[in-house]
Amino acid sequence: MNFKSLPQLLDHFKDEKTCIEYYEDIRWGGNVICPHCDSDNPYKTTRGYKCSNSDCYKKFTVKVGTIFENSKIPFRIWFASIYLATSHKKGISSVQLAIDLGITQKTAWFVLHRIREMLKEKAPKMLGENNMVEIDEAYIGGKEKNKHEGRRRSQVFPHLRNDGTPYKPKTMVVGIIERKGHVVLRKVERAVKYEVDPIIDIHVKQGSKVNTDESTMYRDLGLFYNHATVVHSARQYVTGNVHTNTIENFWSVLKRGLYGVYHQVSDKHFERYLDEYAARFNTRNLSSQERFERFLVESESYLPYKKLTKKS
Ligand SMILES: [Zn+2]
Repeated sequence: MNFKSLPQLLDHFKDEKTCIEYYEDIRWGGNVICPHCDSDNPYKTTRGYKCSNSDCYKKFTVKVGTIFENSKIPFRIWFASIYLATSHKKGISSVQLAIDLGITQKTAWFVLHRIREMLKEKAPKMLGENNMVEIDEAYIGGKEKNKHEGRRRSQVFPHLRNDGTPYKPKTMVVGIIERKGHVVLRKVERAVKYEVDPIIDIHVKQGSKVNTDESTMYRDLGLFYNHATVVHSARQYVTGNVHTNTIENFWSVLKRGLYGVYHQVSDKHFERYLDEYAARFNTRNLSSQERFERFLVESESYLPYKKLTKKS
């Protein structure tokens, strides 16, 4: 198999049978496992498999325990959706996906949310070491420190802005990015040191080179990291190799995407969109096909959760 475009992908996955065989191979590699009891002796039936473990005897298909479970949408449409959602730098809206694939917007919305589930990092990423790290925060809806005085939050009346109109809190995201490497994004409730510190601790290896701006949130990073600061308030953006341009560029793609493609993202789903952007960025050097296959391997996302809840 080799595809470099959507028509090539659709040519290859010409029918449901081809897709199922392909996905069974990705998921099980010839060794079928019952998603209900993990036994490895199911047998083939006309519509899928049946477990031969006498405590189970359940029927299943390759979709059970994956993002495709309980979905009547053909695999072809799913595969095309994954391809489109992961190859557009800024993502694709459910409206656009519905038009492109001839499905309803409701279906497209559902498909995209399941895809985001698949794109979620399964284990915390550790950044840094020999790779320079930049850390910065973004306010989705406008950065507080870049606002005009009157539009900033009042220090005296926190529910108001300085101009007396109501203050609406923005969603704040902390971004940790390696130059020429990966990005980690986390939503935080407030731009304060005690919220940001634990995130940096989990995701940046101690001793790494870290660049930030002069925000007080980052003031003690020098204790654990090789920390250098750019003083943006002094209109200083680059000093030698010290800058935060990589993360600033990432923010501009994220914001253009969130405002342009998704218009507004509800608070409830916000983190899923962050996962989507991070996943795309972190696979930007792969070909479309490599990226497609890399993510498909992760599509078993429902299974660990089921296992987890079963035992408790
Ligand atoms: Zn079973």
